[in-house]
Amino acid sequence: MKMTTLQGLERDIAQDTFNALKMGLRGPVLLPGEAAYEESRTIWNSMIDRRPAAIVHCLGTGDVVACVQFARDHDILLSVKGGGHNIAGLAVADGSLMLDMSLMRGVWVDPRNRIAHAQAGCLLGDVDRETQLHGLASVLGFVSLTGITGLTLGGGFGYLTRRWGWTSDTVTGIDLVTADGRLVHTASDDNEDLFWGLRGGGGNFGIVTGIDYTLFPVGPEIVGGLVAWPAGEAPKVLELYRTMAEAAPAELTLVAIMRPAPPAPWLPKEVHGTPIVAILACWSGNPEEGEKVVAPIKAFGKPVGDVLVRRPYAQIQALLDATQPKGRRYYWKSEYLARIEPTLAEKAIIHAAKIPSPFSAVILFQIGGALNDLATDHSAVGNRDARYVLNIAGSWERAADDAANIAWAREAWSDMKSFSTGGTYINFLTEDEGSERIRAALGNNLARLAEIKAKWDPANMFRTNRNIKPR
Ligand SMILES: Cc1cc2nc3c(=O)[nH]c(=O)nc-3n(C[C@H](O)[C@H](O)[C@H](O)COP(=O)(O)OP(=O)(O)OC[C@H]3O[C@@H](n4cnc5c(N)ncnc54)[C@H](O)[C@@H]3O)c2cc1C
Repeated sequence: MKMTTLQGLERDIAQDTFNALKMGLRGPVLLPGEAAYEESRTIWNSMIDRRPAAIVHCLGTGDVVACVQFARDHDILLSVKGGGHNIAGLAVADGSLMLDMSLMRGVWVDPRNRIAHAQAGCLLGDVDRETQLHGLASVLGFVSLTGITGLTLGGGFGYLTRRWGWTSDTVTGIDLVTADGRLVHTASDDNEDLFWGLRGGGGNFGIVTGIDYTLFPVGPEIVGGLVAWPAGEAPKVLELYRTMAEAAPAELTLVAIMRPAPPAPWLPKEVHGTPIVAILACWSGNPEEGEKVVAPIKAFGKPVGDVLVRRPYAQIQALLDATQPKGRRYYWKSEYLARIEPTLAEKAIIHAAKIPSPFSAVILFQIGGALNDLATDHSAVGNRDARYVLNIAGSWERAADDAANIAWAREAWSDMKSFSTGGTYINFLTEDEGSERIRAALGNNLARLAEIKAKWDPANMFRTNRNIKPR
């Protein structure tokens, strides 16, 4: 079997050698030509089309250890897929031994101590489903099909970020298999350097097998959903968004979205495909209070649709899922912002009006709050001055439309990037964004990350990620 080495060369691995790995695994091995191999190697962003030499569907930590040892012994490139939602396709590498973690989706909730232990292949929805049984939640992202591990290792933000910080701020422990094939536990008092680096430094230090999350009382009922207006109202709606977001208590998170209206049942048919502006709100505190807080949004102007209501927390966590299907082509540009400048809002409206696809959007996520309260070097994620995320989100179906859609996103970004804090979200970087952008995302924490990398992975075995070179 031909596999790729760490240096990118092709190496022949004898069938007996590969069979020995296979025999030692509990999970199945998927090979080119098999339907399950195709399903596993394809990810959310269909712009990514890579072929690992073999895929191991890991069934437990023992399988992960066996694969890491095999890769080390034979100098083989490893890649690892959690939820397969990384837009740059970091999960998949040509010729690699790919670890697909999707059979490891167990979640154990300890409601008394308010901790959930989740296996590394979990999707966000897996964790919400189990924790909500106890009226608890961890700080996760906006689309329930995203993988917890990629999200958490890059920082992570969602509706609860303003109350409790980056997802990685709420993590109390991470288990991983390191380059020497050892299973290592990390926490604030256990392999502290590694624990610091894992919370923002991505998959650079090993293959994560499980994560411990702090849980918080949330729901089961919250107030959340969308209100939409015709795009002509965007200047006024964005001003409402800006003023409400600036004054918002931490329980409230607001997202502004400008895009062609999707064919959603809550929007009238005649609106479908026409440009709209929407505010997505989530109040995660007491619902009675939340209804009062979001009332000005519902009462504003003449909405074309309004589904901002009391609903289960688990429901809002999946509300955007249908807008982000696996298999479309995606290209994003994004920046952290400290505030919404009126001129930024004007530019966002101008670029939203030029969207060349029915699926793309200009989005402003509100973050800030608790994440701003910690020091920049609290963990590797940094960006403690970020209060909003600007996401220029290109999404379309045909390869023939790549150039037009990518050009739109790049043009919008060049026009708005001057409003950035200087930082950007490492998990939103696309395939063509390189070391300059990694530096922007990790800032001054990059130097310490390089030292930790040198200690734990001096040969840079874990390199199919936002790679930090050992120093
Ligand atoms: C539709 C959509 C919505 C999103 N919404 C949000 C959001 O609300 N908030 C937010 O913060 N982010 C969001 N993201 C970004 C998301 O955090 C990243 O895409 C993240 O990489 C997804 O994790 P994954 O496990 O699915 O990634 P994968 O594509 O499976 O993996 C990407 C990389 O993560 C690392 N990794 C994954 N598993 C492991 C492991 N077991 N051990 C070590 N490293 C591992 C590896 O470096 C791997 O290459 C969203 C992305 C998409 C596509």
